[in-house]
Amino acid sequence: MAPAFAVDIGGSRIRVAAVSPDLTLQPIYATPDVSGGPAGLVKQLEGLVRMACEGSPLSAGVVATPGAVNSHTGTISSATNLPLTGYPLGDALSQRLGVDVKVVVDTAAAAVAEFGASGAAADCSIGAYVTVSTGIGTSLVVDGRVVEGAHSRAGELGHVPVRTGPEAEPCPCGQRGCLEMYASGAGLARLSGRAGGPTGAAAVLDAARHGEPGARQLVEQAVDLLCRALAGLVHVLDPAAVVLGGGLLLGGRLLEVLVQRLGEIIVIPGWSARSVLREAAHGDLSPLTGAAALAAGTPAAMRLIGWKVPT
Ligand SMILES: [Zn+2]
Repeated sequence: MAPAFAVDIGGSRIRVAAVSPDLTLQPIYATPDVSGGPAGLVKQLEGLVRMACEGSPLSAGVVATPGAVNSHTGTISSATNLPLTGYPLGDALSQRLGVDVKVVVDTAAAAVAEFGASGAAADCSIGAYVTVSTGIGTSLVVDGRVVEGAHSRAGELGHVPVRTGPEAEPCPCGQRGCLEMYASGAGLARLSGRAGGPTGAAAVLDAARHGEPGARQLVEQAVDLLCRALAGLVHVLDPAAVVLGGGLLLGGRLLEVLVQRLGEIIVIPGWSARSVLREAAHGDLSPLTGAAALAAGTPAAMRLIGWKVPT
């Protein structure tokens, strides 16, 4: 049987895998090459898919990408960290590979994985998946379905304004003071670099762990602002689970500090940050795992994303 394939395009890493019948994945990794614009990136993706599938004829594919995606047209209407805004990625890749290619938001694919049978929120039908890495992204799950929203932007936690006034950081989205400017990997790195500290997010976390005061203050600010935005999410949605993923969050081992801070902020009798906040069961492979389940047409995954289950 011709294999399906799954792709996860991250801000700093692309993961590609052939989808085996039992959904075990052996991803190959690459750094996104954006020097040739969107067409160059599509050519790179084509090469990676053919390599992952060892030249076999293909059946179909699902691509998980950051930004806001119209899941009906596969067009990306806003991608802050990649040159894909307004680009029909699904059609372009479909033309090059000669098979149907669907595009989903990476956080939606991750929610499919984490609210599916093998995920951290397998027992929950209402909640959210939140990723903190280069950027901050969220997908909401309500009644066992990923919610896209009226403008494909439901759950844009990263663009909740958390600072106001002239000092608030301008965000590429056009607003000022967005959470992403303070609590994402790119935000932390930029603030640290400006203050003469380390210019990589991992290095900022490391410096904070070693007690460097400037780095500590930036990480404490990031945790506090992220938890305030999460508190808004908890009060609005009353989620059974908020699954946390993304390189910065998982690599920085931030779950415990978030549980503690959110527990201090939220006062609801009987509510427990420890039972609601959960680390992604699929680690940094959540988006790729969800994309693979969708590419394979797994009924539970199709229901979660709201696609027609094949009969
Ligand atoms: Zn913004």
